[in-house]
Amino acid sequence: MKKYGLGVDIGATNLRVTIGSETGEMLAKLIEETDRSRDPTAISRQISRIIRSLCRSLNLNVEEMVGIGIGSIGPLNLKRGGIEQPANIPGVGFIPIVKPLEEEFKLPVVLLNDCVAAVVGEKFYGDGKTVENLIYITISTGIGAGVYVNGNLLLGKDGNAHEIGHIVIDFDGRLICGCGKRGHWEAYCSGRNIPNYVRYLVENNLITGFEKSLPYKLTRGDWSKISAKMIYDSAKQADRFSLEVVKRIGVLNAIGFASVVDVYDPELITVGGSVALHNSELVIPFILQHIGEYSINRVPDIKLTTLKDDIVLHGAVAAAFNPPEVYYKLVK
Ligand SMILES: [Zn+2]
Repeated sequence: MKKYGLGVDIGATNLRVTIGSETGEMLAKLIEETDRSRDPTAISRQISRIIRSLCRSLNLNVEEMVGIGIGSIGPLNLKRGGIEQPANIPGVGFIPIVKPLEEEFKLPVVLLNDCVAAVVGEKFYGDGKTVENLIYITISTGIGAGVYVNGNLLLGKDGNAHEIGHIVIDFDGRLICGCGKRGHWEAYCSGRNIPNYVRYLVENNLITGFEKSLPYKLTRGDWSKISAKMIYDSAKQADRFSLEVVKRIGVLNAIGFASVVDVYDPELITVGGSVALHNSELVIPFILQHIGEYSINRVPDIKLTTLKDDIVLHGAVAAAFNPPEVYYKLVK
């Protein structure tokens, strides 16, 4: 009897695999560093090996699994069933995922963007269970979202309806995003780009007191060494400069959230990703404080996800049990 689902979270750093029940309980979980070699078959082979070892350790057969759900870093090519030249693994080209796993395990495989998988996890196993209009937003290395509107998971024409990190929040385009374009939300507020924003604020005298700040001391004035973590940690120690930076990031996040609220009209937004999860008291309150200044739609509940770091993995298991119809429409 098919009782369990396999869930896979392909991250730029870590690869996580779990076996879960339909109610969302994880029987076991294995985490390894993602194989970032140039061999395009490396990741699917790594997933296969971990699945086999998990099954062995739990004394389960692959035949007892309903399928394999995967949440992955992008960019995904859903029609080809893999990852297309990920920026995080330079020089690798296309990484096939769906076909090799389907062939090896003879199970259905569902491949979703990690933020999309996460919102599926929230819908089935988290605070999104009772709502039909739900958004999950991750503030991490980048910024992204998964969206349900009227109970429908949104994928878009190429499966990229989650790319909210590239909403333009600055029409003057002062900072360049990792994608190469200007003025995008994540160019200012993502973990990777917060240091750029800090340098911009200091260089343009939009914020003062850098020379007396904790980050200045910690980096000995070498601001190429500033990190998002350093800014949030210093703000937690009441460093005035860092608190001011965190506040400004909060206003920009509120602008991003307001755009999302006005477009999708959600009842609930849950927030995750390392920057938000580790600094929730410095992230969520500023969004709540300022979002009403920018959104026209009724402001929804906005709170930290209770599924934490495992949200993508939960979503992957949920997708194995409940493959989204829209996914099959898109890949066929
Ligand atoms: Zn961008």
